[in-house]
Amino acid sequence: MKIIAIGRNYAEHIKELQNERPDEPVVFLKPDTALLKDNSPFYYPDFSKDIHHEVEILLKISKEGKNIDEKFAHKYYDEIGIGIDFTARDLQQRCKEKGLPWEIAKAFNGSAPVSEFVPKGGFDLQNLHFSLQINGVTRQQGNTSLMLFSFDVIVAYVSRFFTLRKGDIIFTGTPKGVSAVQPGDRLEASIEGKKMLDFEVK
Ligand code: MG
Repeated sequence: MKIIAIGRNYAEHIKELQNERPDEPVVFLKPDTALLKDNSPFYYPDFSKDIHHEVEILLKISKEGKNIDEKFAHKYYDEIGIGIDFTARDLQQRCKEKGLPWEIAKAFNGSAPVSEFVPKGGFDLQNLHFSLQINGVTRQQGNTSLMLFSFDVIVAYVSRFFTLRKGDIIFTGTPKGVSAVQPGDRLEASIEGKKMLDFEVK
């Protein structure tokens, strides 16, 4: 399986990092070794001093497709979840300054904690509220109504470049409020108030 992630999909987050608003989705990949499941702890890596949390809604791809039309994109994902796109902001900043790819800052081991997935039916996907609490304090809150690119636009767009396969996961971008985590932090992420992810930084 592969993990596809979308950057710069919420205007307020683009502002806080002083990035440019994109005309098309900003896409990057994480390998399967980035996955962290079952609320396993995240071990703070030795190569960074500035690991940021980015809470994001996840889509789970349910069947193979490429060059998917936006009209039919909804047929290619049937479950949603919530995850953290951990980012080594110090490494990313250095890569950005030099115009280099970001992979070491985004795709490292354990950089993609994910929740269990639940059927998308019953949720209003265009108006989905989600949040991240750290040590009991709400640090990020988002609503999918504020995305620049909708789930269907994202699925259609990425499928032009990468064949989507059953089991692939798409991270759909983070709202504002990103900041550093520290060893000892407890991260809890919820969709519509229901806690789905709960793990510690070690
Ligand atoms: Mg992100």
